Amino acid sequence: MSESIALGQPTVGDEELAAVAAVFRSGWLSGAGPTCKKFEERFAEVAGVEHVLATNNCGASLHLALTVLGVGPGDEVIVGDYTFPATGHAVLWTGAKPVFADIRPDIWSVDPAAVEAAITPRTVGILAVDVFGQPADYDELRAIADKHGLFLVEDGACSAGASYRGRPAGGLADLATFSFHGRKGITAGEGGALTTNNAEYAATARKLHTYGIEPAINRENSTDLPIPSFDVAGYNYRMSDVMAGIMLAQLDRLPDLVAARARVAKSYESLLGDLDGVTLPVALDDRVHPWQSYVVTLDAGIDRGAVANGLRAQGVQCNFGTYASHVQPVYASDAQCPVSADLFTRHLAIPMHANLTDAQVERVADTLRAVLTEVR
Ligand SMILES: *Cc1c(COP(=O)(O)O)cnc(C)c1O
Repeated sequence: MSESIALGQPTVGDEELAAVAAVFRSGWLSGAGPTCKKFEERFAEVAGVEHVLATNNCGASLHLALTVLGVGPGDEVIVGDYTFPATGHAVLWTGAKPVFADIRPDIWSVDPAAVEAAITPRTVGILAVDVFGQPADYDELRAIADKHGLFLVEDGACSAGASYRGRPAGGLADLATFSFHGRKGITAGEGGALTTNNAEYAATARKLHTYGIEPAINRENSTDLPIPSFDVAGYNYRMSDVMAGIMLAQLDRLPDLVAARARVAKSYESLLGDLDGVTLPVALDDRVHPWQSYVVTLDAGIDRGAVANGLRAQGVQCNFGTYASHVQPVYASDAQCPVSADLFTRHLAIPMHANLTDAQVERVADTLRAVLTEVR
């Protein structure tokens, strides 16, 4: 059998190794140091925002976002249903209740009409998810949020390099969160960021992400010996400076990585556009899709497990899409999200990363075509 084609793969090399070496030489390996600061400045340009906090993962960023917004027990936060568990979990961590709202059938982010229908007197905000990186409907969501006095948060875990109506992901809501896990478009293995244009949110999040202590980098420049006191039980949600070094190298690559993924998506479209039994993913004209994953929808009645087995037997890795949240036992949700529930059973992710060759993309397409013919 020919070599296996990975579902996802980071693009890392000598530049990242050199960046790590530079951090080693600097002597500051722990978090919230000079390399994190550099990363935060660079990512602020990418995301088009005033404030960036480097964190250890997107879940931590989500927890910080909701905490600085004052979310707590008794509150309801409306969450786009089709997402990774971190989104709903972060609401649970604050003691509030995630209220899941159904998604658009084409781009799978939360349906603004479903958001409006889910609002109750306990609703405090909206947590929208950019599914596989394609931004949600921020103009419509902002209008709903403003009308009802709600906050708006963007789970942009997969959205580095994305934009919406000319505005980059990161500045589309009151706060936005990013992931730099190995399966995302840019990565330090793990890692995350929190972005905002609100200086107060940024300062509160910064304090909370380092146990509620004034960051060491600020104290170091002090001439006396300031002794911090604690007025809040913060967390350790810091990105390490080693990771920040890797992220600086990844930011240099970001435009190329996004372009490479867009090329793969275009090839799939021309190779698979006419294939019966599957619907290809949609990238809307008014936004840039960074293609964290490439997820096709199988027609109802096609045995997804059989398709997956057929692909894997030929060395083509695949997976389901992401999760319908409202059916997960942890949330004990009574929400009805039929679109999300349906797509959860029919989505199939096929290889998408920036290292794919034309020959590999063709092999994936040929294999999917052959396997679908077999199982139908
Ligand atoms: C990957 C992902 C997360 C979690 O990111 P971590 O950095 O692993 O915490 C959260 N939300 C979405 C939509 C994701 O895809």
